[in-house]
Amino acid sequence: EEWLQKSKTKPNGKKPPAEEKKQYLEPEFTKIRVVDFDLKELVVLPREIDLNEWLASNTTTFFNLINLQYSTISEFCTGDTCQAMTAYNTIYYWYDERGKKTKCTAPQYVDFVMSLCQKLVTDEEIFPTKYGKEFPNSFESLVKKICRYLFHVLAHLYWAHFKETVALDLQGHLNTLYAHFIVFVREFNLVDPKETCIMDDLSEILCTPAPPPASTPAPSTPASAPSPSSQNHVTER
Ligand SMILES: [Zn+2]
Repeated sequence: EEWLQKSKTKPNGKKPPAEEKKQYLEPEFTKIRVVDFDLKELVVLPREIDLNEWLASNTTTFFNLINLQYSTISEFCTGDTCQAMTAYNTIYYWYDERGKKTKCTAPQYVDFVMSLCQKLVTDEEIFPTKYGKEFPNSFESLVKKICRYLFHVLAHLYWAHFKETVALDLQGHLNTLYAHFIVFVREFNLVDPKETCIMDDLSEILCTPAPPPASTPAPSTPASAPSPSSQNHVTER
């Protein structure tokens, strides 16, 4: 508790999350998309492909791409700038192998995530690459674990490093990666909606297929802002 209070008044001039403007929602940025076709076609299980093989190859690809995207701004994500792994009103804590909750900075948290993912996706017993080798019973739960952690990294990128991403002109890549990832995890129920809801406003905009150019634009719906009570509440995970 004491530590939370401290982080709210850190002297870098940052306002608490509720008052901060969500730059990533500005139309200027959300209209930029590398692809404008229906992402769902990319994620549905192709006929003749084994479900586990499909989950394994996609999860490995998302791990590599999200790791790469984070690396573009990693020099700005330090123990000073990001004293905790935050996204919107949420602070993510790392739980070690014995289940002990640990405070860590965002770069430490991302390092834990990436090391764990690397270890899992390269483990032949968990992500078998040899023909005929069986997936373990724990495969699906491990894929869910990886996807949940990768979502935390994406959320942190938007919440803490969108400005730097824009400065590098990489927001189009980030948006495409994010939309593809969300459509994928939704298709196979890999991340609890309670985790992803903090980014639902962005997901709504990015994951809805763009209307065909000739048709009249659909009436715009106001962006659904979380209720004031949820804005002021710091969630711990
Ligand atoms: Zn950071």
